[in-house]
Amino acid sequence: MDFALWAYPWDVLDEGVDAVVERLDDIGITEINLATNYHAVQAFLPHNPARKTFFARASSYFRPDAEYADLKPVPNETMGDGDWVREIVDGVEGSEVSLNSWTVGCHNSRLGLRRPEATIRTPFGDSLAFGLCPANPTVRRYLLDVLGELSALGAFDRIELESFDYMYGTGFGWHHQKIHARLGTLGEFLFGLCFCDHCRENAANDGVDVDRARRACREAILRLAEGRLPSTVDPYGWLAAHPEVEGYADARTDVLTTLFSDCRAVVDAKMGYYVGLLDVEDAWMQGADLARLADSLDYYTVIAYESSGTAAADRLRVADDLTPDVPLHAGLLPGHPAVRDAATVRELVDAVVDAGAERVSFYNYGLLPERNLDWIREAISEYA
Ligand SMILES: [Zn+2]
Repeated sequence: MDFALWAYPWDVLDEGVDAVVERLDDIGITEINLATNYHAVQAFLPHNPARKTFFARASSYFRPDAEYADLKPVPNETMGDGDWVREIVDGVEGSEVSLNSWTVGCHNSRLGLRRPEATIRTPFGDSLAFGLCPANPTVRRYLLDVLGELSALGAFDRIELESFDYMYGTGFGWHHQKIHARLGTLGEFLFGLCFCDHCRENAANDGVDVDRARRACREAILRLAEGRLPSTVDPYGWLAAHPEVEGYADARTDVLTTLFSDCRAVVDAKMGYYVGLLDVEDAWMQGADLARLADSLDYYTVIAYESSGTAAADRLRVADDLTPDVPLHAGLLPGHPAVRDAATVRELVDAVVDAGAERVSFYNYGLLPERNLDWIREAISEYA
């Protein structure tokens, strides 16, 4: 059984690569899922020796040296002339710890604000700055260029994809987001359904009546906001009654299927995709048909930030039903707000392993208090 920890580069470097490697060895962790290209974040860092919080705009933690066709990652400004990723790659070389790239794709408010034409467009035509649209050829080229450069480093055993898909309409609640109308799951989903030029063209090519679909989305969002359609309406039932919107949403699955196949072609490492940032069964809302994407992937990491073994195992079972032929890994959060004690971490690990997880990643090195790192050690000791 393999165990990994997600980590931000500043936590590894502030503490010193050797010290972190030693601590991971003590815990029983053999892999770091290192953030390489990332969305905006503010992190509370309980055991970082140099700082207790860090704010980073959406940026890359490596210095982009490769040829970029158009969109290019913006390196984190606090690196100065440095390159966090290469520094850590050099630091872990020869140790027992291997590195994986934790790679965020379309969720990038810095690039989205700079290039609104490359973002998701709501049914009303507004740009959602937090999400680049994966149907946009410029965005696709960017994603492939990022993966190509990371793969060419030759330093990562795995390249793991987060947000190489359509963002949900509320994103991750960024930039003091204020929505004081109860849109419910359906309204939030429809609000993020992309009507950019490329998405409209793709759907039209699939035979979808795009104007009709857009009208239905606009109308539903406003009816939800005004309380004329209950916010608890079942999205599946609503879509079944609005086949033009269902067809429009379905057209996005081809976009991701071809994107992932292109990603596969530039990645020379094991490639995984994080599923379950929404509920696993709601992956379609992000345009992800898990059975089809599996053709391009070595595994899924099922995010199971749950408080009980039963709930975490359920997430793996749902993923296994949707895509039975691909290995499943599990992501666990052994801390606030999901978990409060060591016994629960042990229960979670045992449950996802029983449910078939071939590997477990824990979230995340710098965010967890030292007490919680101890809980991981206790939970995985029997698998050593
Ligand atoms: Zn689009």
